[in-house]
This record gives sequence, C-alpha cells and structure tokens, in this order.
Amino acid sequence: MADYTALTRGGASWVPEFVVALAEDKCIGCGRCYKVCPRDVLNLIDSDEDEDEDESAAAKMTLKDIDDCIGCSACGRVCPKNCFTYAPLAV
Ligand code: SF4
Ligand code: SF4
Repeated sequence: MADYTALTRGGASWVPEFVVALAEDKCIGCGRCYKVCPRDVLNLIDSDEDEDEDESAAAKMTLKDIDDCIGCSACGRVCPKNCFTYAPLAV
C-alpha cells in the first residue's frame, strides 16, 4: 500500500492529508473551517436547542461527509483550536 499522491499544476507531487476526525469537544463554533472548505464536508450544528435561554450556547462543527474531502488541509490552517486530525489515503 502507498499513500495517494496528487500533482500540482506545475507537475510537482504532493500527498493530500484528508480529514479523519474533528474534536467537537474542543470546537468553539467559530465557523472559520466552514468558510474555507471548498467541499461539502462540514456542517455547523446549533447546540442551543436543549439549552435553557442560554444566549452563550455555542454551535459545534461536525463532519457531514468526510468522503467529499479533497485533502487540502485548509480547515486545519484556520482552526484556532486544532480540532482536525488528518491522514493520507492508502491506495
Ligand atoms: S481538508 Fe479541505 S476539503 Fe477537506 S474538510 Fe478540510 S477544507 Fe474541506
Ligand atoms: S475552525 Fe475549529 S473551532 Fe472553529 S468551527 Fe471549525 S473546528 Fe470549530
């Protein structure tokens, strides 16, 4: 088995790092990852439905469809809480 390898426009090879986990316990719901993700991988869930009038209740980011990830790592670069875990794809 080898890691899936892609090419840049200039022909250089690179190994995409795909999202495999998101630490929801560390997420502050800032939405930065959602804004930069070019695919349909992430979903911001409002977590205040069960809270009692708590205005500070935060939303949490969740993984909606990791199979749509292209391995660009943009989400991790903007995440202030290091929530994302990545791995190359074995092929
Ligand atoms: S690595 Fe890229 S495509 Fe995958 S979830 Fe993060 S921003 Fe989206
Ligand atoms: S960037 Fe990090 S802290 Fe902000 S919503 Fe995404 S996972 Fe949560």
